[in-house]
Amino acid sequence: MKYCLTCDWYTTPADEPSKATRSKDAIDHHVETGHTIDSSNGIVPPQLPDLPEEVFVRDLLPARSSD
Ligand SMILES: [Zn+2]
Repeated sequence: MKYCLTCDWYTTPADEPSKATRSKDAIDHHVETGHTIDSSNGIVPPQLPDLPEEVFVRDLLPARSSD
């Protein structure tokens, strides 16, 4: 599928069987709106978990050893 990173726009093979038409639709959306289109092999866009930023930062830090 192709989907928009900015709004809820997307197109899937179920919506539009023609890959060429989906590509054209995605380009048209980009031209019309200036939005960024991404594509995924799946049928739904990958979603980042809705977690606060501190969780990510904490998870990136090495565990503190108690020596
Ligand atoms: Zn959009």
